[in-house]
Amino acid sequence: MELKRTLQMLFKLEDGLVIETVLIPCERGRNTVCISSQVGCAMNCQFCYTGRMGLKRNLSTSEIVEQAVLARRLLSSEVGPISNVVFMGMGEPLHNIENVLKAADILVDEQGLHFSPRKVTVSTSGLVPQLKRFLRESNCALAVSLNATTDEVRSWIMPINRKFNLNLLLGTLREELQSKHKYKVLFEYVMLAGVNDSVEDAKRLIDLVQGIPCKINLITFNPHSGSFFKPTKKEKIIEFRDILAEAGCVVLFRWSRGNDQMAACGQLGKPGEIQAPVLQVPSQFQAVLEAAA
Ligand code: SF4
Repeated sequence: MELKRTLQMLFKLEDGLVIETVLIPCERGRNTVCISSQVGCAMNCQFCYTGRMGLKRNLSTSEIVEQAVLARRLLSSEVGPISNVVFMGMGEPLHNIENVLKAADILVDEQGLHFSPRKVTVSTSGLVPQLKRFLRESNCALAVSLNATTDEVRSWIMPINRKFNLNLLLGTLREELQSKHKYKVLFEYVMLAGVNDSVEDAKRLIDLVQGIPCKINLITFNPHSGSFFKPTKKEKIIEFRDILAEAGCVVLFRWSRGNDQMAACGQLGKPGEIQAPVLQVPSQFQAVLEAAA
């Protein structure tokens, strides 16, 4: 069977909680499994469906590794080998750093699953002390969810920025990456209409990443129920991408896959009745969001 769509797997844990793992097949055989590191998430990023759940608990090392083991066992015969693992499912991986470091070690160990460290990517919303530790203790790849070019916007859509602002986050990366040979961080940038997608944002982004070996991944926003954000139109994303590329940035953009079945980044989980709070919208964005609604 040839699998073209993303495939969402639900795992019921011993305590009855459910986590989600997503398989993203790729035509060129680079199949990726997206694994969870927590049940829910405490970070409350305003554009994220998982964040609405709040944090239920951390996953153990074995609960993290098992997702990749089972995905490989169940799906390799259907989609071919799984080559990439990304910690981009439910949770903030570095909020569960002990278990995530151990799981990443097992994923790359030749006695373990023996993935290449370059093919195992841990994503973070920007927990600076843990990010430093991760870069010092692991050779796996790091993705940082950036999503804004000013502290005002980032502190609104990603409250972790109130503790670790852009200057601190990017300064730490600039410093830490000096001692990592041929290592590039991946910046993820979810494009939100009228919020972070202006020409000025693109220009600021170029300045912000100066001196940091990196790639920038532009991601289309997947609207979910109750979300007041809207995706940036494709032409505008291309304009944004071209500004970055002309300035010499390595920039990637692909249309999101899987949003038709609630299985794309920021769409996993099921918020219960008690949900994380929606934060106050800065006054200058109220009109934009009302117009987009
Ligand atoms: S985007 Fe990631 S860090 Fe932010 S709330 Fe969602 S799962 Fe947590």
